[in-house]
Amino acid sequence: MFKMTEVLEKAIKTHSLEKEDIVFLLGNQSQEQDLFAAADRVRKQFVGDEVHLRGLIEFSNICKNNCLYCGIRRDNKQAQRYRLQPDEIIALASQAKNYGFGTVVLQSGEDLYFTPEKMAYIVSNIKKFDVAVTLSIGEKMYEEYKAYKDAGADRYLIRIETTDKDLYHRLDPGMSWEERKECLVNLRKLGYEVGSGIMVGLPGQTNESIADDLIFLKEMDIDMAGIGPFIPHPCTPLANEEGRAFNLSLRTMAVMRLLMPDINIPATTAMESLNPQGRIIALQAGANVIMPNVTDKEYRDLYELYPGKPNAGESSLAERSQICEKILAIGRTIGKGYGGHKRVCL
Ligand code: SAM
Repeated sequence: MFKMTEVLEKAIKTHSLEKEDIVFLLGNQSQEQDLFAAADRVRKQFVGDEVHLRGLIEFSNICKNNCLYCGIRRDNKQAQRYRLQPDEIIALASQAKNYGFGTVVLQSGEDLYFTPEKMAYIVSNIKKFDVAVTLSIGEKMYEEYKAYKDAGADRYLIRIETTDKDLYHRLDPGMSWEERKECLVNLRKLGYEVGSGIMVGLPGQTNESIADDLIFLKEMDIDMAGIGPFIPHPCTPLANEEGRAFNLSLRTMAVMRLLMPDINIPATTAMESLNPQGRIIALQAGANVIMPNVTDKEYRDLYELYPGKPNAGESSLAERSQICEKILAIGRTIGKGYGGHKRVCL
């Protein structure tokens, strides 16, 4: 009982915790509401009541990688593949701007069709709409990241997934944890706002390992942390794993807010896939960003990283207004402008 109060007070005061305190918070289900309330207070104090909306464009589900957890992995022969053309992506971004989004997020599998030249063409044309551009297209060489930055890209998302290197190498065959970390370092050097994050509830993952993840994200001084539950996809080797750790994901996200009070933290789509109110619950436990999907209906369902994506089948405008209503109903406001990371001196 007293330990919870003591740990939360320390976190609120110093925004720094020992690993054992983080493990305690992650494992304390009975008092999780106190943790969520503390994260909500810190969120309000540091980033305010605005919820920033990012228009998410999932432009290709073709991927050269074979991550065991992912529904668009190379070896999933049941996935129906698609790829939007550069001008189609630009047109969707223009629509997103018209709907009122201040940021467009371009996400895809690692699809080699999109050369640095094609990406630079896409980014520079989207920048003409006066929106922030976030890319989430995987591991690239420094020079490629530089080409996107030179074309005007503002932010880049690449989750470290887990800092347990053995687990990473088991789940991401053919990939290297060190190289993924190097991507984060290079993106920072190039002046991007850098987003990273993890999945929670991976097979073999422990609370100790999640605590290491949070400490890593803080040490890397990231600008955005996406934390979502692992949800098993039926057409992957992890189909029969448990996953779906909704509450543990919320606790992880709330601890992240305590440790990094001024960063942007999305209420992830995966949370909404497990609970119809998942994103709204997350917004009240430390999150301040939502990424509504603006991809056309026919492709959204095909970008199936995991089953149960919310609102699949609805129009993007309808989805946006539904989300706005829910945000206003909990007393929050819709963010204006780019909604980037504003650093606060601690
Ligand atoms: N290819 C890019 C990359 O690797 O960063 C971006 C796309 S990738 C599919 C986006 C994120 O989806 C991954 O970083 C991973 O955390 C998440 N993801 C994939 N499969 C998932 C699953 N079964 N459950 C929850 N999240 C998943």
